[in-house]
Amino acid sequence: MQVLKDKIQAEGVVVQNSLLKVDSFLNHQIDPNLMMQIGEEFALRFKNSNVTKVLTIESSGIAVAIMVGLVLQVPVVFARKKKSAVCNDDVYSTTVYSFTKKESNYVTVSTELLTAGENIMIIDDFLANGEAALGLTNIVEQAGANVVGIGIVIEKAFQPGAEKLKNAGYRVESLVRIQSFSNGQVNYV
Ligand code: 5GP
Repeated sequence: MQVLKDKIQAEGVVVQNSLLKVDSFLNHQIDPNLMMQIGEEFALRFKNSNVTKVLTIESSGIAVAIMVGLVLQVPVVFARKKKSAVCNDDVYSTTVYSFTKKESNYVTVSTELLTAGENIMIIDDFLANGEAALGLTNIVEQAGANVVGIGIVIEKAFQPGAEKLKNAGYRVESLVRIQSFSNGQVNYV
């Protein structure tokens, strides 16, 4: 997606040759126009998948997922990383190891929000080792629902996440695929 590559080129910061910081448009400040273009692109790619719900994980997937849900006219659910005081115990849960924070999170979705037989599209901002996306597929499967695919804004193709997901039989759609970082530059596949 060229508009996303242009934005990364203009505003992305490569950290320690392994992380891409995109706090100015995706992870801290959010560019709503870009989010909408991203939502439209994902909606186009999944238009024949009969998506009934979008599932993401808090917090950085939410902005993207809302736009996808808006275009597809389906609800958006985000998995919570901390237990909510008003949440009852009827949850699907899994543990996700965070690549950036180097910690494990107990992740939950209320059982009321996912129904057996639904067609769920999973969305996340980055794909690195695949932990977050695999955790979400696990939750969808606990509910007896179907994963129609996984939409990723920025895939780091030098890490094994995409391969793991594809080997597990999931469709992965990444808007940009990074091959490597070198001297602060981003090289695409
Ligand atoms: P994974 O679970 O695939 O190992 O890592 C994906 C998660 O880690 C994403 O939800 C994202 O929050 C975070 N992440 C992984 N790599 C990067 C990166 O290069 N930059 C940023 N900003 N987040 C990342």
